[in-house]
Amino acid sequence: MLSKNDIIPMKITSTTAEGSGVGKTEDGVAVFVPLSAVGDELTVRILKVKKTYAFGKIEEILSPAESRTQPDCPHFSQCGGCVWRHISYEEECRLKRQKVADAVERIGGIKTEIKPIISSEKTLRYRNKAQLPVAVGKDGALQMGFYAFHSHRIIDCADCLLQPEVFNSVMQITRDFLGKTDNDCYDERTGKGRLRHLYIRYGELTDELMVCYVVNGNGLKQEDLLVKMLREGLPNLKTVIINSNREKTNVILGKKNRTIYGSGFITDKLCGLNFRISPFSFWQVNRAQAERLYEKAREYAALSGSETLLDLYCGTGTIGLTMAKSCKQLIGVEIIEDAVRDAEQNAAVNSICNARFICADAETAAAQLESEGVRPDVVVLDPPRKGCGEALVKTIGKMSPDRIVYVSCDPATLARDLKYFEEQGYKTSEVTPVDMFPRTAHVESVASLTRQ
Ligand code: SAH
Repeated sequence: MLSKNDIIPMKITSTTAEGSGVGKTEDGVAVFVPLSAVGDELTVRILKVKKTYAFGKIEEILSPAESRTQPDCPHFSQCGGCVWRHISYEEECRLKRQKVADAVERIGGIKTEIKPIISSEKTLRYRNKAQLPVAVGKDGALQMGFYAFHSHRIIDCADCLLQPEVFNSVMQITRDFLGKTDNDCYDERTGKGRLRHLYIRYGELTDELMVCYVVNGNGLKQEDLLVKMLREGLPNLKTVIINSNREKTNVILGKKNRTIYGSGFITDKLCGLNFRISPFSFWQVNRAQAERLYEKAREYAALSGSETLLDLYCGTGTIGLTMAKSCKQLIGVEIIEDAVRDAEQNAAVNSICNARFICADAETAAAQLESEGVRPDVVVLDPPRKGCGEALVKTIGKMSPDRIVYVSCDPATLARDLKYFEEQGYKTSEVTPVDMFPRTAHVESVASLTRQ
């Protein structure tokens, strides 16, 4: 019997979807060991014993895995952002491809070709967005940074290796501003206090910066001073926004925005087109990899110019608009109003006249389009993590497009949905994993489906 505080020798043989290493005891009990690497020989201290598995932590590394590297961030191991700063990028890519292959085969029961992962040239400072919680710690000091794993404890950081350096300047100016004024920070337990989150977005190719403060209330004290300090410190500042969120919730953004400087949005470029990005609109966090993802999606869509293309979960219209010149008409569907407005603007700015956008739930809109007799030749869908679900798959099945391109940020729900598509007569021809989020456990994939 395994007990808490036992110290067990163990070899790490696999990883979980969240990036934790897994080994087995002599009796075959799986033990989850965070921060270990496949191939590590360890002694592990058992922390928690469940019926069929246990959690442990590394007591000693007896023989390190070949893939091990020295973590380059002082916050790694506490911060919940990265899980793989202690192994080589090659090994990380291998694990990510494996994760996609395992999900497709085990959850979807699908045999298909899993292509080599499209790895990221940049593994540092690739993110163009940060949402940093702000609070006051037990010692009374300001904390701004990232949450620890499975927790709302803030790890105070002055730098994050995934974000551009200019974000550090925004963080520092915000700290200075809070030090000069009597704006307090939000306390999750009491629901009192003002500043909740600092939210930053950056247009990589346009060098435009958006700074947004999420506030429990209508605003901050001395907003003029804040704008002055930001403008003085950040030559590429484009806009400053106050977002009001008075709800006791983990959802970061509230429903109301007030622009206190600039236009209320920034722009960036993707696949040669210009895009407008509002605070509420989805925008891929790794711009360079998004281009490679869209290129793959475009290849799978195989448009010849005569097609009707339906882009479900279209955000600001990015995927569809980058293909619009290769099809006859584009219909985009997106649930967030601001994103739809951005998508319409984006079509206009890029002189795309064959696109229309519908603000609605994807499932409802697809059913409506189907009942109107709309028959797209190609459907692209890019749902959030929970996937698109069986009802939408059935509706798409009724529309019977020749090809479906499924972009997914969660291999498990992708695999489930691919199975639903098979039931509708679609074969998954291949899946390409794309590493949009180096050093984290997340992996994107794009699947190509054809009607049989
Ligand atoms: N394809 C876009 C956005 C993908 S993210 C891009 O690559 O940039 C997923 C998008 O789905 C988000 O914009 C989100 O607002 C939207 N969304 C979430 N649930 C939805 C639903 N039920 N119906 C339609 N859109 C939804």
